[in-house]
Amino acid sequence: MKGTFPVEKFREIQTPFYYYDTNLLRNTLNEVNREAGKYENFHVHYAVKANANDKVLNIIREAGLGADCVSGGEINAAIKAGFSTDKIVYAGVGKSDWEINLGLDNNIFCFNVESVPELQVINELAAAKNKIASVAFRINPNVGAHTHANITTGLAENKFGISMEDMDKVIDMAQNMPNVRFIGLHFHIGSQILDMGDFVALCNRINELQDKLAKRHIIVDHINVGGGLGIDYQHPNRQSIPDFASYFECYNKHLKRHSKQTIHFELGRSIVGQCGSLITKVLYVKQGTFKQFAIVDAGMTDLIRPALYQAYHKIENITSEMACETYDIVGPICESSDVFAKAIDLNKVQRNDLIAIRSAGAYGEIMASGYNCRTLPKGFISEELL
Ligand SMILES: *Cc1c(COP(=O)(O)O)cnc(C)c1O
Repeated sequence: MKGTFPVEKFREIQTPFYYYDTNLLRNTLNEVNREAGKYENFHVHYAVKANANDKVLNIIREAGLGADCVSGGEINAAIKAGFSTDKIVYAGVGKSDWEINLGLDNNIFCFNVESVPELQVINELAAAKNKIASVAFRINPNVGAHTHANITTGLAENKFGISMEDMDKVIDMAQNMPNVRFIGLHFHIGSQILDMGDFVALCNRINELQDKLAKRHIIVDHINVGGGLGIDYQHPNRQSIPDFASYFECYNKHLKRHSKQTIHFELGRSIVGQCGSLITKVLYVKQGTFKQFAIVDAGMTDLIRPALYQAYHKIENITSEMACETYDIVGPICESSDVFAKAIDLNKVQRNDLIAIRSAGAYGEIMASGYNCRTLPKGFISEELL
């Protein structure tokens, strides 16, 4: 038995499955609330796309966070978990009519609008319902984040948001539309960001844009800075709770705020990432020509991050204390990229050992697929397995 895993209970459950440590999740949420609570009008929304497991969502809702959704399905999941609709924000470059109507019917707090044609459709659909939709414009700040190329979103070349040059024009359009109310600006520069300098660069850009708007006597009520705070994948035990103190302090220090302005955050990975592990069983240990493989029953269908982004996850053998040996950890899927790690040291592995793939709470279970006709992994929270 290693760490805090209930290995005996794990033996009774069909692998692979996700395990969520709810003590850590609750402690993380307390830290978010404590650090954000130090500043007036800092509101945190949980980015549902990181993990929409209903038990996890319930715990996050209990902590009082809002919900950041990127689809109608996520709006439904948030409502089902009890998030209050006046704390739901909805972003996405391709909102379908039914999704916009769902947001309108539920009077969500804000649509984060990413293009002119989308603004026009929201105005029309709101008019048909005799409603006024609150909108913020997602501005592409052309700020790069020092993270994997597939998860930067704030560069001019990315598909997200409205360019800075078009901002004035779009605001004018909105102000002439009867069924939308322009309430704010929205940004999101990427994910797994650990360099606070990237957030400072975003603040500086927002300050410039706000100065430009102030010259036109426009002061928006809401600034939404998105999410993106990263986690320590290398050392999940050493830093199990991200440095929220520095994160919120950074925004408080660098973002010039007008009085009564509300600042919104949309955090996903940093809230749920460290509390989750993918638990998988070793099927075979196979000796290759130059290396040995531990073949496990989880695959890229259960956790796609290593195959998709070459992401690193710390891997532990939670049922062995034997001397370490070097292994490639691979899954059963018929794809060469179905590899969780190459040449890592693990306590000697034998058939039926249990392996924990750590820091898998964000973009893990939610991205699972049925490729190879596989069953989707289940998720269990720690208090279910006491
Ligand atoms: C994905 C996403 C987030 C959350 O990103 P994290 O890196 O998980 O914090 C926030 N806002 C928007 C618009 C997103 O698309």
